[in-house]
Amino acid sequence: MHHSPFARVFARVVPLSLLLLSFPMAHRPALAAGPPPQPNAAQIALGLHKLGVVGSVLYVAAHPDDENTALLAYLSNGAQVRTAYLSLTRGDGGQNLIGSEQGPALGLIRTQELLAARRIDGAEQFFTRARDFGFSKNPEETLRIWGKEAVLADVVAVIRKFRPDVIITRFSPQPAETHGHHTASAMLALEAFHAAADPKFHPEQLTDGVTAWQARRIFWNRSSFFLKPTDDVSGDVKLDVDAYNPLLGESYGEMAADSRSMHKSQGFGVARNRAPIVEYFRLLASADAKETAAKKPLPGIFAGIDIDLKRFSGTARLKALVDQASTKLDVRAPYKLIPVLAQIDAALGEIPDAGWRAEKRREVRDLVAGCAGLFFDATAADYRAAPGTAVEVTATALNRSPAAVKLDEVRFPFAPARTVAAALESPGKAGGAAKAFELEASVKLPPNLPPTIPYWLETPPEAGLYHADPTLIGMPEQPSAVEVAFTFAVDGRRFTVGRPISYKWTDPVMGERYRPLEVTPAVSVSPSTNVLIFPGAAPQTLAVRLTAGAPSASGVFRPEAPAGWVVEPATAPFALGAVGSETTLGFRVHPAAGAGRAGGTLRLVAEVGGAHFSKGVIRIEHPHIPIQTYLVDADVRLEPIDLVLRGMKIGYLPGPGDEVPAALRRVGYDVTLLGDEALAAGAAALRRFDAVVVGVRAFNTSERLRAAHAALMAYVEGGGTLVVQYNTNNRIAPLTAPLGPWPFEIGGKRVTDETAPVTFTTAGHPALTTPNAIGPRDFEGWIQERGLYFADKIDPRYQTPLAMNDPGEPPQHGSLLWARYGKGTFVYTGLAFFRELPAGVPGAYRLFANLLAGGHRPGATR
Ligand SMILES: [Zn+2]
Repeated sequence: MHHSPFARVFARVVPLSLLLLSFPMAHRPALAAGPPPQPNAAQIALGLHKLGVVGSVLYVAAHPDDENTALLAYLSNGAQVRTAYLSLTRGDGGQNLIGSEQGPALGLIRTQELLAARRIDGAEQFFTRARDFGFSKNPEETLRIWGKEAVLADVVAVIRKFRPDVIITRFSPQPAETHGHHTASAMLALEAFHAAADPKFHPEQLTDGVTAWQARRIFWNRSSFFLKPTDDVSGDVKLDVDAYNPLLGESYGEMAADSRSMHKSQGFGVARNRAPIVEYFRLLASADAKETAAKKPLPGIFAGIDIDLKRFSGTARLKALVDQASTKLDVRAPYKLIPVLAQIDAALGEIPDAGWRAEKRREVRDLVAGCAGLFFDATAADYRAAPGTAVEVTATALNRSPAAVKLDEVRFPFAPARTVAAALESPGKAGGAAKAFELEASVKLPPNLPPTIPYWLETPPEAGLYHADPTLIGMPEQPSAVEVAFTFAVDGRRFTVGRPISYKWTDPVMGERYRPLEVTPAVSVSPSTNVLIFPGAAPQTLAVRLTAGAPSASGVFRPEAPAGWVVEPATAPFALGAVGSETTLGFRVHPAAGAGRAGGTLRLVAEVGGAHFSKGVIRIEHPHIPIQTYLVDADVRLEPIDLVLRGMKIGYLPGPGDEVPAALRRVGYDVTLLGDEALAAGAAALRRFDAVVVGVRAFNTSERLRAAHAALMAYVEGGGTLVVQYNTNNRIAPLTAPLGPWPFEIGGKRVTDETAPVTFTTAGHPALTTPNAIGPRDFEGWIQERGLYFADKIDPRYQTPLAMNDPGEPPQHGSLLWARYGKGTFVYTGLAFFRELPAGVPGAYRLFANLLAGGHRPGATR
């Protein structure tokens, strides 16, 4: 069988769960680490029809959640064209509603949420190296921070590999009132539409079968909820993308809602739509100049493009066979189709286009396996293994139909293929059961095999761009390094399927679960914190956990402190036992004495037989995505801070994934987490706290908190200090309760430049003086942004001691609201303390300490 070189690359690196997406799997669970779900007879019927379709659409936008899932569901399952979403970023700059992961870890979750969404709507998924660096107000800033040339080259690379007939952008390439990433995504898609066809543009991409590619046309997709009544749609192509699919038992609107509801870290669960969904498409450019000049809109997005086999002359026999397969399907005995599918496979040579030939070859293979109910699996005895060690692997093949299937070869990784030549036992009749074929092997992992880490996290990124191996750019996730390939023969045709080696277990609640085999370092190093803060000269304690990735790792552990800093003990011997065993070492870290009080980085190194280990394994576990693993440097930032604290007893009402309480404890605050029962007890129960803090979005997520406004205000009136961090008020999370004693609104105002100058509007204001004297240096070293969801339409009884703005914008005064109310103090702040405090930013600690002090002077009684 002829594969294009690119198809080989693609088959090697794309996880099978993705390759098998040609089957709609709307009714299947989204846990994808195991073998792909078996298609049912209705899905086989759809797959047979799809064999005759050769159109393709690439949808382009900026973030996880930008994509139009109704359109993707329709294109993939209704029109049955090959459909993909290219999200320029992985959404790593957003907020997280389901946990404490931020930055690259959040990007990993969002990546998997998109893959879970695609398993429902049936589209494929791609990314560029661009980072979601936080909100951007215009495309010029976005393209400067990303590096326009690099991201444009990535979009072109995806177009050249996927070869879409039609490209669709979610946003207008014209500057508009939206996220700068959004406009930039459309500008790049439009530029890439032309550049991908130019062989002189990044010619290094044109190897391994990849050629320049001219898509036929590019549209801007406008949805009805985007349109204003004044918008003119008379020149747009219109398309109703909702329809009920009786084979699937649902409409594309319903499927779209299920897909979109996978964006759980963003709280984007939506209701299932059963009404018509009209989409509008404005032509941005066409390969045919007559189309762009035409007055009337095109009759459809595929106008003039053959999306069936007619596109290729000489495919008449193939087309007839595909039609025959569709009509001959017996839903009670799909295996009877296998002889026709084998003939189709042999006839695929009639397709002159190597890309489509390879794509259809994969579809036929999956249909053969689906019709025969073939099951392939490769499981390991443990979920992790270190390089240089051996893993016991069981390869399983099972035929669940009367079809005669011969297993020719099984290839375990890092070993030659093993000839099997075994006829798989057949149940003899449809619906019967047979015994599985099993083959065991001890797979020796090479000593130089890199540990499991997503390819874009292997090296530290730039501010706007991840680094990546050029051959992997565009891929949604790390290809498995440990796959077992099964080659089987049926009706004279040979097919190969791959299965990543996985660990399989039974969870008493979730049932059967799979996770990919992780390649982990022989010793992983995890400090108890990534930041140590030194408010004074006193030493801090640090615990370091060592975990064995290989059996019997022993050696010496050595903390490497910056000049002037002292760590006791200077070294510590360790001896670990079986894989997974742990030991915890304790250290005291003494800050450097004297002037300057410079901070630094403490490096943690475990030495085993001359090899150094200084990374920790991080795992991300959420029920809606497969378990994710990556590695982080085992470094601890040492940060001296001149910090005075007043009022040590803090009651804290946490928001989702809130890391501020731990950050406050780090500098000595006595923090009590408050639940619903504390609120139910009213103001009296809060009085024992010097200050009560409300975490980000806590009002959005806690009904009890919204009902507790009166109690919170009574607490303030009686002399307490209440500090409310940002909450949102929008379509997704409407705010239905007041936050403070007097009105203010929360809009979308923010300052995204983390270096934006901050001015003090009120000299001597307690927030800026008591007990810590705040100056410009306290606004140095902030990360990602100054703040977000600032207050707006502010009642004049509030004081606003800070003003700041992004470049070129007027000053904003809503980042910090302060009011004396009764005997106490109320504070609302949109400043990004939830990022700055866990990151150990000194000025953020000093300012937050002032907010908690509520204006109380040192020594004053409260
Ligand atoms: Zn977006």
